[in-house]
Amino acid sequence: MTISVVVPCFNEEESIPLFFEEMERVRTSMGEEFEYIFINDGSSDKTLDVLQELNLLNPCAHFLSFSRNFGKEAALYAGLQHATGDYVTVMDVDLQDPPELLIEMKQKLDQQPNLDCVGTRRVTREGEPPIRSFFARMFYKLINHISQVEMVDGARDFRLMRRPMVDAVMELSEYNRFSKGIFAWVGFETEYLEYKNVERVAGETSWNFWSLFKYSIEGIVNFSDAPLNIAFIGGLLSWLLAFVMMVLIVIRTLVFGDPTSGWPSLMTVILFLGGFQLLTIGILGKYIGKIFLETKNRPVYVIKEKSK
Ligand code: UDP
Ligand code: MG
Repeated sequence: MTISVVVPCFNEEESIPLFFEEMERVRTSMGEEFEYIFINDGSSDKTLDVLQELNLLNPCAHFLSFSRNFGKEAALYAGLQHATGDYVTVMDVDLQDPPELLIEMKQKLDQQPNLDCVGTRRVTREGEPPIRSFFARMFYKLINHISQVEMVDGARDFRLMRRPMVDAVMELSEYNRFSKGIFAWVGFETEYLEYKNVERVAGETSWNFWSLFKYSIEGIVNFSDAPLNIAFIGGLLSWLLAFVMMVLIVIRTLVFGDPTSGWPSLMTVILFLGGFQLLTIGILGKYIGKIFLETKNRPVYVIKEKSK
């Protein structure tokens, strides 16, 4: 039984050796066979050199190297496609996904044959700016409300899956990939291990607030069509309101005559409707943009170099 370890790396020259060392310790104590698949996601530092050297010394440490930065989602997809193990795990290289949890994850899968996947979830968000945690919580509330798939708050991509689940994930070959949603969408019996947040060992996170915000919009647009209802319901309500106002104005004119007033209210209504129309066109645009990218049918990633 082989466990494939899929590890996306973007400018991680310092973390890779530390990660590998930790993982090898875990592998020895588990007595399992590991197959590493490192993905160099267009790093601009020495990540590729580090991976090449690692591969020379350890044939089980395979790598794929992209022609440019395609993003973590693309790296995950490439890694899962190249994984051949009966079990597959997805991990960050910065040791924020504690390797020793793998031992417990594998034990759980061995004990419960009906379980397909053991995931992990952070129960604390220590070391993270409070405003970021707040928005993260809001995001999970919102997405679980408007989307059919259930996304667990704090769930990481770090998980150990059996082969059938991996194959199911690969069936979703869409271009706009949102892994949290994809893992949830395929279903399968998943149990979550809880752990406290760990800071990354070296290097810097490649996410800032703005990129996380855009990522959450991705998640919503990829896994829910609820925003499209805003246009429909908002339009319906303002149409009803306009109708009531029209009747009132006709009655007022017939009863009190027609003094020309109401310029401020007119402006308010025009601005309100103008803004609302732009918003809904924007929402439509988001979905059309997704369709545009999806219909081009471009590959999710391009590999420039890979190990044997
Ligand atoms: N990563 C990647 N491509 C990117 C950004 C990140 O492959 O464009 C990798 C990165 O090397 C790390 C993992 O994705 O192994 C998680 O990234 P990071 O630690 O920056 O995210 P955070 O843990 O802060 O959410
Ligand atoms: Mg990290």
